[in-house]
Amino acid sequence: MKINYLATASMLVLASACAAVDSKGQSVDSGMEAVAATQTVSEKAAKSLPTLAMFDPAYNGCYDREMMPYTAVVDTHNHFRPFGGAPVPFEELMGYFRDNGVLFVNAYGIGQSLPVDSSCEYYLDCVGTPALPSMKNDFANAQNLLDYDPEGVVVTLSMTFPDLANPEEVPEQIAFLDREYPDMFGWMGEVNLVKHALMGNDHEPATRDDIDNWAPFMATLRERDIPIAIHSDLGNDVEPEKYLELMEYVLESYPDNKIVWMHLGLSKELTTLSASRHIEILEGMMADNANLWLDISWRVVYDNYFVEADTRATYVDFFNRYGERILPGTDFVAAHVKNGDIYAEELDVTSDILKDVDDEAFRNIALGGSYFSILNMDYTAPSICKADI
Ligand SMILES: [Zn+2]
Repeated sequence: MKINYLATASMLVLASACAAVDSKGQSVDSGMEAVAATQTVSEKAAKSLPTLAMFDPAYNGCYDREMMPYTAVVDTHNHFRPFGGAPVPFEELMGYFRDNGVLFVNAYGIGQSLPVDSSCEYYLDCVGTPALPSMKNDFANAQNLLDYDPEGVVVTLSMTFPDLANPEEVPEQIAFLDREYPDMFGWMGEVNLVKHALMGNDHEPATRDDIDNWAPFMATLRERDIPIAIHSDLGNDVEPEKYLELMEYVLESYPDNKIVWMHLGLSKELTTLSASRHIEILEGMMADNANLWLDISWRVVYDNYFVEADTRATYVDFFNRYGERILPGTDFVAAHVKNGDIYAEELDVTSDILKDVDDEAFRNIALGGSYFSILNMDYTAPSICKADI
């Protein structure tokens, strides 16, 4: 099962992280215990990046928010494959993560692949061309992870192929992945329940009947304890809550599945919802559904909801209360035209609000506490250093 794979990969990565720490002369002796016992974050140079050793459950140092980055060490929402055209090469992408202190990453394909015979690279540039889920990207990600050592980055592979409006084939497709890449996939998503922006590219929103027909694959996810991350627009500026009932129906139908709702339900089509009404909706859903998690990725969310001081404060307060079930991410799409500077900027923007959350929420969101918990990973977010009194 996935845990075996992840545990093995994690141990290898942890071992290499120790070697890296040693080679920089930051530990006094060799061995992980010595690192854990003697290295506190405040002893490290200013602006130094976190290392995997800090996430060992035995680590007894602390994370100094003054000295260390406010950007998340976890990117739970990263599309390693673009809509069309070439991706950023896998090894180059790993460099982007290492350069920014991102240690844990979910590797998504993309839920809207353009046809291989199309020269189009972004679906909104070719409205009318179908952009549909496909298994191609999941194969490519799995193969890359086998072919290249992610070196210091713990990668969790995600199944991005399911078409939620046509779910009948999904169990067979999971079985196919099981045959070709057994035990390698620990996540499902980003899958599109309803995505308004995709309507011009043959995207078909799922209906209640379709959602009922998810039952077989949702049972498989429960057995394997695999979360499903769903993009489902809350609505648009004309009808802000138009699609809310679909997401509610999913939660009602599958209360025992771990479900992640992407972007807090927001999108480029919904930029005028009041923060207070939005939080009222989220709060009600979080209170009613213990297995619901929220993804706060995408710069569109920052640009429209986290920039202004008063609305930002409302979200910070909400994050402080629900940090244990909130997941950060960039929503970076690794198209070949992107580069490391663009990734760094997207990480910076999507993490900006984390400057303001309290220490407990920072541990859970930025330092991976909520991520380790949803995946039952054998890592622990370090505690936050207390200011000297
Ligand atoms: Zn995405």
